[in-house]
Parts: sequence; structure tokens; C-alpha cells
Amino acid sequence: MNYYSLNKKAPNTTFADAAVRGLAPDKGLYFPESITPLDASFFETIEEKSNAEIAFEAIKQFIVPEIPEDVLKTIIEETLNFNFPVVNINENISTLELFHGPTLAFKDVGARFMARCLGYFNKSNTNEVTVLVATSGDTGGAVANGFLGVKGVNVVILYPSGKVSDIQEKQLTTLRQNIKALEVDGVFDDCQDMVKRAFLDEELTSKMQLTSANSINVARWLPQLFYYMFAYKQLKSKHKDIAFSVPSGNFGNICAGMIAQKLGLPVKHFIASNNANDTVVNYMNTQSYEPKPSVQTISNAMDVGNPSNFIRIQELHNKDFEALKANLSSYSYTDEETREALLELYKDYNYVADPHGAVGYLGAKAHLKSNDVHVVFLETAHPTKFLDVVADVIKENIELPPQIMRVMDKEKEATAIATYDELKMFLLNE
Ligand SMILES: *Cc1c(COP(=O)(O)O)cnc(C)c1O
Repeated sequence: MNYYSLNKKAPNTTFADAAVRGLAPDKGLYFPESITPLDASFFETIEEKSNAEIAFEAIKQFIVPEIPEDVLKTIIEETLNFNFPVVNINENISTLELFHGPTLAFKDVGARFMARCLGYFNKSNTNEVTVLVATSGDTGGAVANGFLGVKGVNVVILYPSGKVSDIQEKQLTTLRQNIKALEVDGVFDDCQDMVKRAFLDEELTSKMQLTSANSINVARWLPQLFYYMFAYKQLKSKHKDIAFSVPSGNFGNICAGMIAQKLGLPVKHFIASNNANDTVVNYMNTQSYEPKPSVQTISNAMDVGNPSNFIRIQELHNKDFEALKANLSSYSYTDEETREALLELYKDYNYVADPHGAVGYLGAKAHLKSNDVHVVFLETAHPTKFLDVVADVIKENIELPPQIMRVMDKEKEATAIATYDELKMFLLNE
């Protein structure tokens, strides 16, 4: 499969090249040249297939032959070594729990898949790459963990000193091997600025292949389409139309769901559930896309003022606003509403959600006011990842899962830096 740049000013290229580069040379996002629906029989018999079989059939057209079928099967089996349960909330709402991976984040799947693809492309040690990531806390851990031990791939992860939780810091700084943590004297934006500057620094990029590991990268973005298939497999016997409410930040996850829909998955509607960062909500109301600076919320993995994948969503709907509106609704909620939703889920349904899932639940309820469907909201992080907020709302202790217990006694290893020049020195001396 070839990929083109949405800016249309760069040559079309292979999956391998798109995955190694991340962004096209014209700074556009890569998009698959074609999307061929799967046979109807695939969906008719989906409940008889394993998750790995479903994932392989669903993604193979985007990846093979650059990764041979047998290698792709192994990559998928290694990526998906945990569960994706659908939990019933009430008659019309369920949640798809995406937090059972090694770092309890839904980004585990994309990161593990991308890491193994890059590892394959580097199998003869010709394409050593350095993945550079800035994290505000939650997502860096998934990336770092996903790449742990993958040959030919080094990960350098920048985080703001004193601005991430103890659990998050442990997840970032105790991995070792090919993962290096840089503790930046500054805030998240400083980390992000340093990373951006590195990508534009020709002295650096002429000496090393730098890449990013966020959802602009096709190898991290596309495997997220699996989730929607796994949910359908578990809910098909309900014989009811399904809509998905997706807590969205950069809109990579929901856009992958729309790829699953293009592949033929019966999805009636998508709901983008947002916190106070409401750029897309406004766009759906006004048709005018006005990016703005992000505002801080308690569902901070969605604090994005200019969602990078929204342009892919527009492409999927042929830039036709009416077509998009028929397939996507979007809502925005305050932190206060999010806290109330956390409490409601706990009191009425005995379900402990995290703030991101709670926003998804609110979007599900809004959609049900005028639609007769079953809504699945995606639970994108384990509640203990946002322990302060959740424990404060539900007034109960939450037990730490083993994935977290395991890192808590390990020793932190991080290099302190304060300036871009220090980052550059570090990278050049790697
Ligand atoms: C990254 C993230 C999101 C947002 O996903 P996008 O693909 O950026 O829309 C939502 N919830 C959690 C917990 C996340 O880490």
C-alpha cells in the first residue's frame, strides 16, 4: 500500500518510509491511497475469530507486502497480549476498556505495533532511528514501554520536572535499556518546543534519523482501528445499531474508528467527546475551523487546541461537511460535569471510570437523547492513572494494579537538562 501526503506536495511513498518519517517532507500527514472494504462474511463470522485474526485481516492491506504476512502476524500477536473487554453500564450504554496493557493506557497498542514495525525495518541495522517524545505525563509511558528492548530503535523522552505524578515519573524513568529519560527544567510546552526544534535542526537530522511516535505516524495511528472491531465482536449478538463515543484529543483514535467503518464495520455514528478544548465542537456548529491554544483540564490527555488528525477525518469524508455531520457529533464538557459523571457512574452503576472515560460517558448520554442505538464509550486510561481526581470524587481507595506496583520500587534514572543545546549534545553523544 502506498501513502500520500495530505499537503499533496510530497511524493507518494511506501508504508515503511511513512512509518520511519512520521510526517511527509511537505509536513503533511500521510494517508492510505485506497481503503478496500472487507468481505461481508468477515463481519458475519467475526465472533468466531480471535482478536489476532481479526486484527490481521483488518490491517493487512495497509502493511503487506512491506512487512510479510508471517511477520505481521507475529507483530500483532505480540502487540495484543492483553484483553479488551466490553463492560455493560446500562441497557443502552457499554464501555470498551482499553486500559489493560502494560502502561494502562490505550496508546499501548499503537506504540507496541509501531515499535515492532520500526524494529522490522531496521532488521539489518541499516535504519537505526531515534524516537523523540515530549510528554506531559501519561502518554510518554506507553511509547517508552512499547519500544522497550526493540533493536535499532532508541527512545529519548522529555518530561517536565516536578509536573508529572510519581507513578508517571516511575513509568518513564525506570525502564532503562534503549529508553532514556530527560528531566527538563520547565513546563510541558518547553519539552514540546525542544522536540520541534530538534526535528527542524538540519545538523542533527543529517546525522541521525529522528522520528516522532504520536498519532500522526501511520504505524501508531492505524492499529487503533482494532478496538472498534473487538467491541463489535462482543456486542454483535445484541442486534442493535452501535455508535461509539470517543474521548478525543488529537482525534487519532476516533479517526481510526472511521477507517474501521470504511472497511465495512457496521457503525451507525461517531461521537467525539471533548473537554473544554472545543475546537471541533465549534467547527461542527459553524463550519469554521479555528484552532486555539489548549486549556488545562482534569482529562489532560485531551488538552489539545488544534487536533492533528482532524484533517484525516475530513479527507475520509471527501471534505464534505454534510457527510461528516451525518457521521459525527461532537460535545464539550467542563471539569465540573466530568466530576459529576464520574460520581454518577460510581453511584448508579458501581463503575469506577477515569476522567477521560467520564467525558465519553457524557457524550454517550447526549447522543441517546435523540437516537435509538447502543453507545459504547471508550475507556482510554485506568482510573489509577488519574488517582487524585478519581479518589477525590468517589471518596474510596482504589487498588493499584500490578502494572503500577511493579514500577514503584524501581530506581529512577534520568538526565536533567534545561536548554535546547543540552538536548542536542545529549542526542549527538548517544
Ligand atoms: C491520548 C489520549 C486520548 C485522546 O486520544 P486522541 O487519539 O489523541 O484523540 C484520550 N484519553 C487518553 C487517556 C489518552 O491518553
